[in-house]
Order: sequence, then C-alpha cells, then structure tokens
Amino acid sequence: NRYTAKENRYENMQYRRCGRSGIKLPLLSLGLWHNFGDNDDFENARNILRTAFDNGITHFDLANNYGPPYGSAEKNFGKIFAEDFKQYRDELIISTKAGWDMWPGPYGNFGSRKYLIASLDQSLQRMGLDYVDIFYHHRPDPKTPLEETMAALDQVVRQGKALYVGISQYSAKDTTRAAEILREQKTPFLIHQPRYNMMDRWVENGLLNTLEHEGIGSIVFSPLEQGILTDKYLNGIPKDSRAATQGSYLDESQITPEVVKKVQQLNEIAQSRNQSLAQMAVAWLLKDKRVTSVLLGVSKVSQLEDNIKTLENLDFSKTELDKIEKILQN
Ligand code: NDP
Repeated sequence: NRYTAKENRYENMQYRRCGRSGIKLPLLSLGLWHNFGDNDDFENARNILRTAFDNGITHFDLANNYGPPYGSAEKNFGKIFAEDFKQYRDELIISTKAGWDMWPGPYGNFGSRKYLIASLDQSLQRMGLDYVDIFYHHRPDPKTPLEETMAALDQVVRQGKALYVGISQYSAKDTTRAAEILREQKTPFLIHQPRYNMMDRWVENGLLNTLEHEGIGSIVFSPLEQGILTDKYLNGIPKDSRAATQGSYLDESQITPEVVKKVQQLNEIAQSRNQSLAQMAVAWLLKDKRVTSVLLGVSKVSQLEDNIKTLENLDFSKTELDKIEKILQN
C-alpha cells in the first residue's frame, strides 16, 4: 500500500500569499485536532492526509496536545509522514504549537521560554522531523511577559527548529505588541491563527485590520463551528458526530432549536447556490482576502472531498450576502 501522490495534485487548488511573506498557503488547509489520536482509526487518518495532499492541500496543522492522549496526533502523523510523505517534505508546510496544558507541573503550560523550547523539541521527536515550518504560541498567557514568549519563538528559529512563527487566539492589541517585539528581533512572524466562522465573528472587530496593517497572514480555525455549519444536525444528532462524542469540545446542548433554525435557513441559501452548507460556510470566509487559508477538520474522506469542492463556487452576489447577513443577525 505504498503511496505516490497524484501527479495532477496542483491543478485545482488555489494559493494565497500569507501576509507580506514569501509563503503561499492553499485556500484550504488540514487540521489534526480531532480524528488523529490513538482512539481514532489509523487507516482513516492516513487516507484523509493522502486525499488532502492529492488535492493540493500542502499545509497540515498540529499541536503538542492534539490526540487524545496528548501527543498522539503528532506521533501518528509522524508514522504516516515517514511512510507516505517523507519524499514530499519540501512540498509541505507543517505546523505545531505549544501554549495549552501538555505535561504535569509548572513547566508544561502557558508561555514560558522553558515550556516552549522543551515542547517543540518533544514535538519534533514525535513527528520525526528536523524542523517545523511554523511554530505557534497557542494562546496568550497573561502572566508571562510577552518579551519572554516572543524571545523563545525567536530562539527556535535561530536554532533552525522552525522556519516561521505564529500566534493563536491573541487579541488585536496583543498582536500589535507581539508584532513590535518580533520586528525588533527580526523574527519571521508569518501568521495568526484565530477562530472565525459565520457564528463567531470577533476577528471582524479589529484583528483582521491589524493583521493587514502588519503584513501578517491568517488561518482560521473551526470554520464550520465544529460541524454545526453543515447539514448534519438538521434532523437530530448523528451517533458518529462530534456532538455525540464524549469529551469533545462540542456538546449536544449547543445544538439548540434556535441554532438549527438558523442553520436550516442558511442551508436553503446554500442549496440555491448548488452548494452544500459546509461549502458555502467555507466560501463565505474566503471572500475576505485577509483570510489566507481556512483550516478544515474532517472525520471522513468524504467530508474532505465535499469541502474541497468549495473551490468550484467562491463568489457571492450582493443579494446572497445580504440574505446571509440577515439570518446571522437574527
Ligand atoms: P470545523 O469547524 O471545520 O469542524 C470540523 C468538524 O466538522 C469535522 O470533524 C466534522 O465533524 C464536521 N465536518 C467537516 N466537514 C464536514 C462536511 N463536509 N459535512 C459534514 N460535517 C463536516 O473545524 P475544527 O473545529 O475541527 O478545527 C479545524 C482545525 O483548526 C483543527 O484540526 C486544528 O488544527 C485547528 N484548531 C485550532 C485551535 C487553536 O486554538 N489554534 C482550536 C481549534 C482548532 P464530525 O466529527 O461530526 O464528523
């Protein structure tokens, strides 16, 4: 079952420049938060990665604690990488992060130099890589001086363990401060990873402007609100869905009748565009050129294939956008 990537893999994907950098990212990237842990189906995980790369998805996003258990997504990715993707290393952008809880005691969480540097070393070992393309601070740490955290990001670049750095979940204000420090250090600050979807629009309130001004790209996570912005919850909670999965970050209680009603209305607009709702929700994010890439999570190859077809219709008429806005404001 040796893997050779499809020769035509770059034919249909589109790429966008990441801020004012030399890097272009695919409009769609793949995240390994769910579905790559030790409790998940390894062959399914492998097929998702192969399908992604075969379709020009050159960016895989990880973090130290993706699993469960923590570390297992990186470990499983490392196995698949060694067998399938080693020969394509220079065609890939692989990222990881540290910032949330990872190991016990005071040095396995938040934003100290001690934590970040040790964590990246562990991640590289688990994945069997010499370097990652992007290393992120995963969330702001209100207690650690930003100078310390940013200096740690700088150091891993100087050590050759990361080519670029990024931050995730930082406010617009903290992003400006981080950018100042990183500019002084001459650290290649490539990207911000915020949460953004039709139902969570905080980035429109300053962050995207800041990123454009600073020349930093963005890759947006939970673009489908963890699956709510698809047609899957329109008739109840499917057994194999994230909402039905114990210990996931999506709870059945979030699928309220009001939410379902909104999703139903959005689904009708998607149908009138001959698109699935997932496709429309992704296209809606990409209409803003300050969004460099949409970070997909999928539990099945069929979902990935569905989402890739988004590229067939990325345009919105003013009427469609107004209709969507009205539903979202309601
Ligand atoms: P989404 O909002 O896209 O949710 C993904 C889930 O939606 C899938 O697992 C699947 O759920 C469902 N889904 C996806 N496509 C379809 C489809 N076509 N039809 C029906 N259902 C579909 O993204 P995630 O929340 O998973 O986040 C994506 C990535 O973002 C992560 O893997 C991670 O890399 C990153 N991330 C980063 C964070 C950060 O703090 N920086 C935090 C969270 C995520 P189901 O299991 O029900 O099939």
